[in-house]
Amino acid sequence: RVVYVNGRYLPYAQAGVHVEDRGLQFADAIYEVCEVRAGALVDRTRHMERLERSLAELGIRQPMSRAALSIVLSETVRRNRVKTGLVYLQITRGAAPRDFPFPRSGVSPTVICLARSLDGAVREARASAGIAVATMPDTRWARCDIKTVMLLPAVLAKEDAGKAGAQEAWFVDRDGFVTEGASSNAWIVDRDGTLITRALGHELLPGVTRRTLLDLLSREKIPLIERPFRVEEAIAAREAFVTSAFGLVMPVVRINGVAIGDGHPGDLTRRLRSNFHQVAELCR
Ligand code: PMP
Repeated sequence: RVVYVNGRYLPYAQAGVHVEDRGLQFADAIYEVCEVRAGALVDRTRHMERLERSLAELGIRQPMSRAALSIVLSETVRRNRVKTGLVYLQITRGAAPRDFPFPRSGVSPTVICLARSLDGAVREARASAGIAVATMPDTRWARCDIKTVMLLPAVLAKEDAGKAGAQEAWFVDRDGFVTEGASSNAWIVDRDGTLITRALGHELLPGVTRRTLLDLLSREKIPLIERPFRVEEAIAAREAFVTSAFGLVMPVVRINGVAIGDGHPGDLTRRLRSNFHQVAELCR
C-alpha cells in the first residue's frame, strides 16, 4: 500500500505528518471520503465542491487546483489497485508551532490521501440484513455542515452504539428531532410511501450520497419531504435507512431495539439501493 503525503507517494508504514500538524493539535482540518467502484471515483465533482466549501468556511488555503486534487485521488486509487473501496482525502491547515490563531504565513496545508479496498460481498450481506441504530443526544458543535476531522462525538457515539448492539448512532437534537447519523444521513419512509429526511442546515452534513439520491427520487417521481422527524416517528415508520459513501443506501431495521416495519429491509429502500449508481457520476 502507498499513501500520498504532500506531493509524494510513500509506503504505508513510513508515511507520516509533522508532530505539530494542526490537524493533530486542533482538528484544524477537513476531509472527504469518496466511493471507488470498478476502480473509478463516484460523484467526484460533488465531493470536490463540498471539499472546496469546507476549506473556504475555515479559511484554509486550497493547496492545489481541483484538477490536481482529482489526480491525487485517482492516482492513489490506481497505485493501490483499489477496484471496490474508498478513497480518503484530508487537508489540514498545516504544521506550525502550537498557537491557536492561524499561523501567519509560509505555512502550507498538509494533504493526505489514502485508498482502501472493501469487500463488496460483506457490504452487500450487511445491506441484505439491514443495520440497527441507537439514538444519542447530539453533543456536536453548531457547524456540522463543515466536514471537519473533529469527530470525537461521532467516535463516542459509535462506540456506545456498538455496546448497544447497533452499527450506527443517530444524533437527536434538543427538541427530540433526529439530525443525522454519526457518519451518515438519516431517512424514513412514512405510511404513504413518502420519503422524509431533514433539510440541510448547520446541524447536519450535506451528504453527497443524500444529494445524489435526491436526483434518483425526482427521476423516479418518488415523493419527498425535507423536514425533521422525531425518534418516535422513525420507530413507527414503514422503512428507514441511512446514506453515506461508505454504506451507500443502507437499510435500518431496528431503532433502539425496536423493529422497523417487519424488521427487514424495506422494498423502497432496496430499490433505491440497487438503482443508486444509475444517477451517480463515475470518473476514471
Ligand atoms: N453525515 C455525517 C456526519 C457523515 O460523517 C457522513 C459521512 N462522511 C455523512 C453524513 C454522509 O455523507 P456522504 O454521503 O457524503 O458520505
